Amino acid sequence: MAIERTFSIIKPDATRRNLTGAVNAVIEKAGLRIVAQKRVLMTKAQAETFYAVHKERPFFGDLVAFMTSGPVVVQVLEGEDAVAKYRDVMGATNPANAAEGTIRKLFAESIEANSAHGSDSVDNAKVEIAQFFAGNEIVG
Ligand code: UDP
Repeated sequence: MAIERTFSIIKPDATRRNLTGAVNAVIEKAGLRIVAQKRVLMTKAQAETFYAVHKERPFFGDLVAFMTSGPVVVQVLEGEDAVAKYRDVMGATNPANAAEGTIRKLFAESIEANSAHGSDSVDNAKVEIAQFFAGNEIVG
């Protein structure tokens, strides 16, 4: 297995409930290292660009409104097989289907307000990381 980096967002439902540390504890316990992190308020344009792949979906407008409704914590996570590992640690998109112990099972409020984002491929991780971090902000 390769050492990879993935991009993570702790979403507004989680920051609003003061769960940043609790989510980070799950991430670190899984063996992923937080090598970059900052709290930001995404602009509408940033959220639309970030979720452009979903722009034809019926939930797109609501999703952009949700992602800009409060602060998020953007992160770069590093570790063995980090992309797939973090998808496992997050759990299914719909918390009703998420496995025990996953971030979404533990913390998500709904299929939309589901507490965490994680990249779905190494290539997408690179694109997403570059949207939020300069190279010198990532310290492995
Ligand atoms: N989402 C939503 N309604 C849906 C499906 C997805 O609001 O029916 C939101 C949810 O916040 C999800 C995000 O859109 O995390 C991106 O969806 P995707 O299918 O890429 O799921 P993910 O990769 O985040 O598990």
